[in-house]
Amino acid sequence: MQDAPLVTTAILDYAAKWHGETEVLSVTAEGVLETSNWQNVARRSKLCARALKKLGIRPGDRVATLAFNNVRHLECWYGCGGIGAITHTLNPRLFEDDLAYIINHAQDIVILADTTFVRLLEALQPRIRACVKHIVFLTDRRHMPKHTELQGALCYEELLEQESAGLQGFKWEVRDERQACGLCYTSGTTGPPKGVLYSHRSNFLHAFVIAMPDTLDLRGGSTILMVVPMFHANSWGLVFAAPMVGARLVLPGPFLDGASMHRLMEEQGVTHTAGVPTVWLGLQAHMEQHQLRLSSLKMLAVGGAACPRRIIEFFDGHGVEVRQLWGMTELSPAGTIGAVKASMGRLEGEALVQLKLKQGRPHALLDMRIVGEGGQELPRDGKAFGNLQVRGPTTLSQYFKSDSPATDEEGWFDTGDVATIDEFGYMQITDRSKDVIKSGGEWISSLEVENAAVGHAGVAEAAVIAIPHDKWGERPLLVVVAKEGQSPTRDDILSYLDGKIAKWWIPDDVVFVKEIPHTATGKISKLSLRRSFASHKPH
Ligand code: ADP
Repeated sequence: MQDAPLVTTAILDYAAKWHGETEVLSVTAEGVLETSNWQNVARRSKLCARALKKLGIRPGDRVATLAFNNVRHLECWYGCGGIGAITHTLNPRLFEDDLAYIINHAQDIVILADTTFVRLLEALQPRIRACVKHIVFLTDRRHMPKHTELQGALCYEELLEQESAGLQGFKWEVRDERQACGLCYTSGTTGPPKGVLYSHRSNFLHAFVIAMPDTLDLRGGSTILMVVPMFHANSWGLVFAAPMVGARLVLPGPFLDGASMHRLMEEQGVTHTAGVPTVWLGLQAHMEQHQLRLSSLKMLAVGGAACPRRIIEFFDGHGVEVRQLWGMTELSPAGTIGAVKASMGRLEGEALVQLKLKQGRPHALLDMRIVGEGGQELPRDGKAFGNLQVRGPTTLSQYFKSDSPATDEEGWFDTGDVATIDEFGYMQITDRSKDVIKSGGEWISSLEVENAAVGHAGVAEAAVIAIPHDKWGERPLLVVVAKEGQSPTRDDILSYLDGKIAKWWIPDDVVFVKEIPHTATGKISKLSLRRSFASHKPH
């Protein structure tokens, strides 16, 4: 067989040639819906590649993006990868200190940014001067920021315009599928941010598994609303999977509130979407408040954090299949997903909900196991908890600029998650290892207690953390945000939990807060909660 390299630009060229007319729709920062198509995206990605070269970008250089999901951002990914450079996605929700750290660590030469982030860039500029030579706003001349202290900002449309005369004879310059293509830093919930480099090959292979029927079931007939941000773990591979199947793609820009999501889904006939639980809870609240329905959506993938039961039940009631996806930046990022197997027979009602509450089974490019504290593999019986380890061609081997491997000699990467695996291969996360609650030497699953607590009608959000205990070492504390207009009491909630979880898992106390802190990728920040309640004494 021929040895054609699996490079991301080959995906785009395929989409341009065979799905050229298929639309790519994109909401601008100003809220305007722009229409492009795969042919046009490919043409403009080439112009972008040329423009980047003119700015001095060479193979292996890092080009940062600070942008929401929009079509220009998409063009930059392909344009940058196509000249052998590396797209480094910056998460705008990170603290300024973290952003300055990762930009300098990655030595980004150019930042391609939405105009929304002009103030953030003004604040960052003095701290990133040593490496960043150009800031390019992903807009046209008319929408360029007017009153800004930023020095030397360039306009994306003008740069492309200057290239538009000469695409004849253009050839992508990336040849080696093992060359780096993307760079994403983990959000630092586990220490200083660490960079994960994706190769063309890992992105290409990952796009295949994302599209498969048991994963997101993407097709040429799909209209995908890409809610998960491109700066959050590679947008779960959708940037590559959508053109690979020739799907119609809708990019929502910065508008991820329930009303905007619902409007886009209905107006554009969206069939597939993917995002974190917070976004879907927002959509659900909006739909409930206005008694709305969904007429085209078929598949909703939820990942990044545990999927609450109410999302599964609500969207199922609207004829939408909800699939939970577990993954990490380090895995490109998808690891497991929860589609049903033939060997399990017909699953209905509560049995199906219970399965969907699990994080799912691995795709074909991921091997997985759980191990005990001594490193021994634990049984797949749905009961034994252990450290979850994974390996495969879409799992990292080493962090960017690190001089030691991130895996053991056999390639096993320790995910930092603690999980069970059942006899059918479905994995269920019980905790992150640093969030584990160890009471009397036994682990309590904070996720399971949280899932049970949000089942209470007065609870909007719940988090369980460990607090020190003289006798048991640690005991669980439940932190609750009440639903608007409701005021459940400590005793209401504790008696609600009785019978739903093991007796000794019942939290020692419940505290009510206005807001639970979240990390830059929308996860509950247990570290901040543990700090706030370190000296809490249950009454
Ligand atoms: P960070 O580790 O910096 O928060 P990631 O976005 O890579 O960044 O997060 C990966 C982690 O998110 C996983 O290790 C796991 O703890 C959590 N996670 C992802 N998906 C799920 C899920 N479906 N259920 C529970 N936890 C999840």
